[in-house]
Amino acid sequence: MLTVGKDVSQVERRLSEGLLACPDCSGRLGPWGHARPRALRGGDGSQWWRRPRRARCSGCARTHVLLPVRALLRRADVVEVIGAALGLAAAGWGHRRIAESLGRPAATVRGWLRRFRGRVESLRSGFTQLLVGLDPLALLPQPAASALGDAVAAILAAAVAVVRRWGDAVSGLSPWELAAAVSSGRLLAPAGTPMSINTSRPW
Ligand SMILES: [Zn+2]
Repeated sequence: MLTVGKDVSQVERRLSEGLLACPDCSGRLGPWGHARPRALRGGDGSQWWRRPRRARCSGCARTHVLLPVRALLRRADVVEVIGAALGLAAAGWGHRRIAESLGRPAATVRGWLRRFRGRVESLRSGFTQLLVGLDPLALLPQPAASALGDAVAAILAAAVAVVRRWGDAVSGLSPWELAAAVSSGRLLAPAGTPMSINTSRPW
């Protein structure tokens, strides 16, 4: 699974020109049909269906589904909504209040927070490394009131450094979309799932 640009035509172009690298072996990815259609739900509750592109690596022969930056692995809600929930949790809100404010079921929000908390330390350290790698002089975020808050602060600070470094190439992408891109959509993957933060250009 690989998270790529927002714009379908841009993804197609980069795929056909061999500009996308395999997340497992860095080999070159080429087009390999499409994955089954899946639904994605936006912030306003609207839902749309799309067929993600599938790509195959010329090195290790593994196939990868190319996720748009708006999506997280196995999540039906766009990363903007999930990121908003995480931001509110960092501010001390409980899952029921967050769910009400975002118009999502409480159980869904509780599931997001549980998953995020399950790998909060690897997220905090991974995004802090990304931040320092991009900008050695960056100010590290102040300690937050919770481990979840520390991880959210690291993600947002790294996103600022990504924009400063890559400017136009990432224009139009929000901090949470950038976080989805560099973590290959695995922000809410189960604890123990390998997750590497891509510090080369994933878009
Ligand atoms: Zn490969």
